[in-house]
Amino acid sequence: MANDNKKTAGKQRLGTLFVISAPSGAGKSTLCHQLLHKLRGLKLSVSYTTRPPRKGERNDVDYTFITQKKFKNMISSGEFAEWAMVHGNLYGTSLKRLKKLTKEGYDIILDIDVQGAMQIKKKCDNAVYIFIFPPSMRTLKQRLLNRGTDSKDIVDRRLEKARAEITGYKNYDYVIINDKLEKAYKELEGIIVSNRLKAENISDKQIKSLIK
Ligand code: ADP
Ligand code: 5GP
Repeated sequence: MANDNKKTAGKQRLGTLFVISAPSGAGKSTLCHQLLHKLRGLKLSVSYTTRPPRKGERNDVDYTFITQKKFKNMISSGEFAEWAMVHGNLYGTSLKRLKKLTKEGYDIILDIDVQGAMQIKKKCDNAVYIFIFPPSMRTLKQRLLNRGTDSKDIVDRRLEKARAEITGYKNYDYVIINDKLEKAYKELEGIIVSNRLKAENISDKQIKSLIK
């Protein structure tokens, strides 16, 4: 995944990884779904997980749901770009899926936790790191309760983890506070669009077509 200054030398530009982390309930999935809906050339990295599907979640669309045994086999055979235990379940990003999509020129959203983001940082240099904050812990709790997907115990566990996770924001390139959804979305979209406009991300092919 290394970006060796030849990022745009070939016909096809190599996609960028947008690593997005946030405490659970901050609105990351909501923002990511809007991005995927509105921006072309962007794909979600579909993670593998041992967590059971929530109501409405689809296999291979939201996550690829697998058993602990299968997950551990995938760890042993080096199939993950990163993996972590989050809220008692295993989650991991497939190296093969990432390579395929970046080679095809797609930008990719990785909706992963702080532990996973730090593993990506060690391995990849074509990545941008974005941390999403809730406007307050009180709002975070309210959003988790309103979402209605987790029991009160799980909500409490997620809030406890949120306090620890938030301290990791300094390792990220950008911070977005998701108070008003529309404003947070515009800020997030702005990061992706401006990254695409960087000279290093414009392919030779695009320039040739401009000057012929
Ligand atoms: P995450 O993916 O970070 O766990 P979600 O995207 O599932 O969080 O959002 C948690 C809940 O908060 C959802 O019910 C969502 O509709 C709601 N939500 C997200 N962003 C906002 C916002 N800016 N204002 C109000 N509610 C929001
Ligand atoms: P949820 O179970 O609410 O969908 O996700 C719980 C947490 O796991 C979120 O913080 C999410 O970003 C994180 N997560 C999802 N997929 C991955 C992954 O592949 N790797 C890592 N490290 N974290 C992930």
